[in-house]
Amino acid sequence: MSLIFDTHSHYDDPRFPDPDALVSSLFSGDVCGIIHASTDPKSAEFGLMMSEKYPRYYTSVGIHPEYASEYSSDSLSRLRDIALGSKKVVAVGEIGLDYHYEGYDRAAQIELFRAQIEMANSLGLPIIVHSRDATGDCVEILRELRPRGVMHCFSGSWETAKEILSLGMYLGFTGALTFKNSKKAQEVVQKMPGDRLLLETDCPYMAPEPFRGKTSDSSMIKYTAAKAAELRGTDPDSILFSARENAERLFAVSVDAQK
Ligand SMILES: [Zn+2]
Repeated sequence: MSLIFDTHSHYDDPRFPDPDALVSSLFSGDVCGIIHASTDPKSAEFGLMMSEKYPRYYTSVGIHPEYASEYSSDSLSRLRDIALGSKKVVAVGEIGLDYHYEGYDRAAQIELFRAQIEMANSLGLPIIVHSRDATGDCVEILRELRPRGVMHCFSGSWETAKEILSLGMYLGFTGALTFKNSKKAQEVVQKMPGDRLLLETDCPYMAPEPFRGKTSDSSMIKYTAAKAAELRGTDPDSILFSARENAERLFAVSVDAQK
């Protein structure tokens, strides 16, 4: 039984010269579901095109905080139209705040994040959150606007995790969970409720050990699941199975129905 549900992928990255060949081979292997994380309207079009082609490929629509200064209300209404036009749009993302690099515009990022959460809430869709060096502002906005969704590539402390879980949100873990220096994320995986845990690649990034630094793809989630299983004292298939159920619940999809 294929159990891998990748809740965060970027198969439109130039590191994937032939996304079709790769995605078809993944679906004939261990992968039962893939969600495309959009970063801008063009990327949302890619997600939509792929999800029309593959029954168990889904997409989000959203503008990444890195592009906050380029967005206009036009691009948001284009995303809203895409979401309203297809049942394969299952989330608004990836959206959020990224204060990592110099030169970011904090006010523009906050404005765009809030506008996209409000769009998600009005569409009844969950959000996929990207938060980097911005935990305080991010949690404050989530607490106020109360979207459903997932904190993607979670690497924060158990204290932060508890706050986010108390808002009803899920936590997503990439291959970074397997890295030696990921002690905080490992502690969170050990302690958190199993029904809020999602697995993801963020491919082509964040390949798990023993592929760290290489191009990742959805099949590599089995290594992340093995690490999570070790931390939670269970077996990898149970982790994959419950992460898949969690993804189906949050994104309101049923991969079996699509086979
Ligand atoms: Zn991403």
